[in-house]
Amino acid sequence: MRRTKIVATIGPASREPEVLARMVEAGMDVARLNFSHGSRELHHENAELIRAAASRVGRQVAILQDLPGPKLRIGTIAGGFAELKPGERLVLACGSSEEGSERRLSVSWPGLAEAVDPDDVIYLADGAIRLRVTAVRAGDGEIETLVEAGGSVASRQGLNIPGSTRGLPAVPEEDLEMLRFGESIGVDLVALSFVRTAEDVESVRRHTRLPLIAKIEKPQAVDAAEDIIRAADCVMVARGDLGIELPIEDVPLAQKRLLRIAGQLARPSITATQMLDSMVASSRPTRAEATDVANAIFDGTDAVMLSQETAVGQYPVEAIAMMASIAERTEQGVPYRTWNEQRVRRDARDPAYTVAYSACAAAHDLHLAALVVPTLSGRSARLISAHRPSVPIYALSPGRETVRRCGLMWGVQAASMRRHEVTEALIADAARRVVELGWVRPGARVGITAGLPSGRPGTTSLLQIQRV
Ligand code: PEP
Repeated sequence: MRRTKIVATIGPASREPEVLARMVEAGMDVARLNFSHGSRELHHENAELIRAAASRVGRQVAILQDLPGPKLRIGTIAGGFAELKPGERLVLACGSSEEGSERRLSVSWPGLAEAVDPDDVIYLADGAIRLRVTAVRAGDGEIETLVEAGGSVASRQGLNIPGSTRGLPAVPEEDLEMLRFGESIGVDLVALSFVRTAEDVESVRRHTRLPLIAKIEKPQAVDAAEDIIRAADCVMVARGDLGIELPIEDVPLAQKRLLRIAGQLARPSITATQMLDSMVASSRPTRAEATDVANAIFDGTDAVMLSQETAVGQYPVEAIAMMASIAERTEQGVPYRTWNEQRVRRDARDPAYTVAYSACAAAHDLHLAALVVPTLSGRSARLISAHRPSVPIYALSPGRETVRRCGLMWGVQAASMRRHEVTEALIADAARRVVELGWVRPGARVGITAGLPSGRPGTTSLLQIQRV
């Protein structure tokens, strides 16, 4: 059984019911709806298609709503794109909706002219184009720039000012509206883009009970990573924008640090962007890409993510199958025993950490077939997963949302079970259920965790070793 989870972005290449079903079969655990693109109707339709494909194949697939956050974009360009040549002048017209050209591009945010100073650098086209600010005419909402590195820029592409946050709203009102829409179509997880502080996460928490994924893609967020990750439910190393906002050579160390903190705080993590990028146009990845996926797993990521590969690429199913193979092979080299001892910063006030740690040690010492984890909120499954046991984790929950949210947790397979008020009945039913699901063969020895009093989240304090 593969432990590392796969997140795949849905787009024009992956909307056909047949393709989606094959993506689920190939191993898609979480489907990502990128709200930076596409209409609400389209996302609604996609959510329905994903659920239909999941039920057709008989696998759980969680739906992740990725909110755009305060992402800056240029406006439309006459003819769709502009060729910017090094050494030429370009004016950015802020707060304007005029059609852009090689000489002048519009940016919808009027505050941009207040947010930059002469000599600042602005990036376009995913960092490929570099502009140097030569003058700012804030009164006219105009920024004069010199094209230092040229290239082709398309309508509505992103714009980055590394590090600058002056005047940008932390969480735009449109994000909160999209979040309400996401809830109405039944998304399971929400990702917040361009988070800068823990307060950004907390301000969204006031509006929803859905688990929040903090996307780390600003230098300020890397600096405040520990507080942000503690405030969030999960973290995403969003290497696309991170590689523009930080010098690109800083990205590998940032990834390692963010994933280490996520492990210490027992928060599930996603490593994103360009993992198998060449598979947008080729049926095989490069050796470097295969090694990148493997290294993210060794860095401790729970999930690996595909973006363009599955959204617009020619090989969406093959990309997922390839990621699954690389993950499965890599997991044979994970130092389970060391991770079990050292990965999580255990909380001395909370027995659930000790139970999680002990369950993983027992699985190893006693050669258990699996760990069986009845869980109301998903927390027990999350803590055990963070300790990286060498055996499968079978989470059982009466909550349908909890079952789907486990989709992001490393090594966890989840299904529903009845709610119980008595611990003995809970343990007996859990043992029965994993056999009934075909996950554990009758007579195998497993570790089952439980809480007293049963039926209340956050009370896990018991580990029972038994044959099922
Ligand atoms: C990223 O920047 O790596 C990322 C995942 O975010 P987006 O795809 O929204 O740019």
